[in-house]
Amino acid sequence: EAEGQARRALVAGGGIGGLAAALALARSGWSVALFEKAERFGEVGAGLQMSPNACKVLRWLGLYDRIAEGAAQPGAATMRDGHTGAPIYRVLLGEAAEARWGAPYLHVHRADLHAALLDAAREAGVELHTGAPVASYGTRPEGARLKLEDGSIHTGAVLIAADGLRSPLRRVLNGPESAHFSGQIAWRGTIPAEWVPEGLVAPEATVWAGPGRHLVTYYLRGRSLVNFVAVEERAERVEEDWSGAGEADRLRAGFAGWHDDVQTLLAAVERPFVWGLFERAEQVRWCDGPVALLGDAAHAMLPFMAQGAAMALEDAAELVRALSEHPRVPDALLAYEAARWDRVTRVQAQSRSNGMLFHKRTEIGRLFSWAPIAALTWLAPGLAAAQLDWLYGHDVTEGLP
Ligand code: FAD
Repeated sequence: EAEGQARRALVAGGGIGGLAAALALARSGWSVALFEKAERFGEVGAGLQMSPNACKVLRWLGLYDRIAEGAAQPGAATMRDGHTGAPIYRVLLGEAAEARWGAPYLHVHRADLHAALLDAAREAGVELHTGAPVASYGTRPEGARLKLEDGSIHTGAVLIAADGLRSPLRRVLNGPESAHFSGQIAWRGTIPAEWVPEGLVAPEATVWAGPGRHLVTYYLRGRSLVNFVAVEERAERVEEDWSGAGEADRLRAGFAGWHDDVQTLLAAVERPFVWGLFERAEQVRWCDGPVALLGDAAHAMLPFMAQGAAMALEDAAELVRALSEHPRVPDALLAYEAARWDRVTRVQAQSRSNGMLFHKRTEIGRLFSWAPIAALTWLAPGLAAAQLDWLYGHDVTEGLP
């Protein structure tokens, strides 16, 4: 049995992180079984920003062309004053992103990315189980034992827990600690582009910022859909995923008095999804012998750098590198954790501080509004791009076959 187990990998969770890990493992010679709780695979109908560092992983996985074909490519990332519309901050993307960071910046429909990963995982021979919630695991010298809620046991030399924000396997690994509500909620969804006046939405990643709330807009699927994410600070806790009637009106009420373009766009929203935003303030361990966490299960973050899925994709590449470099699985997983730790912690921290900046909650924002940032962006446009080099310029797949 041990012989057959040696290259057997188990993956819990079939979101973007779990599928990417399963695909990467299968491509590097592992026999992989993936267990997803939901009866059907899928992703919510909303957008995802795939920055150059994420696109490099998509290239490595062989999915880039398919994804790029159905994506939208923004010309810039812009922050504007939500009331006056005045530009505050601008970084050129489009061709400038490819030239500076070595890959494009794309806006992708979540369902398209998820479907591409799923098809590729299936083609690579990953065993895909749906309606298969995992419950817990145990470890033994030769690997991990994964227990499903139905009581069945599966064994493998490595177990990757990519079971998301509420990861039950993380609880086994780290105790009952869970992600905490950040005091912010997000509405999100898409609007057919023909429902809004032409030219209203710039072909860019735009953040309309203001005290206590902000709105992000960009296009998906060429320019046929407008994606929006509206974030609001709110004291009472909201669970991470529900879609309530009447939410469109609540959303609009929050942005009353904002710039006309914002109001016109929000008038076209029908039934948005509502999410509470959760994060983990402190990092805890990601590994336990042959078991490792990946994606949101390891490092849930606020979405204000648009990097959660990007980090999950990077995790998958680093995992495969570590497993190819270390003959013992537990050593490999510790190396994976060590390689990812500082980068992910930095992204989490910067995501948090971006939220403060968008909502003018920094000292500088309170005193001077955004004028210093606007002045700096105006005087030294390259400086804003340079601030992102460590993140977008990184290629986690470098040297990988
Ligand atoms: P998930 O997508 O949560 O997948 C976990 C999977 O595990 C699910 O399929 C779930 O059903 C399954 N599961 C759960 N429990 C069990 C169980 N017991 N057994 C088996 N399976 C189980 N990231 C970006 O890179 N760019 C962006 O622009 C961006 N925008 C965002 C905007 C918002 C408003 C939010 C909230 C997030 C955003 N993110 C973005 C972050 C990104 O969505 C997540 O980081 C990413 O989807 C995490 O993927 P994952 O596979 O780790 O987890």
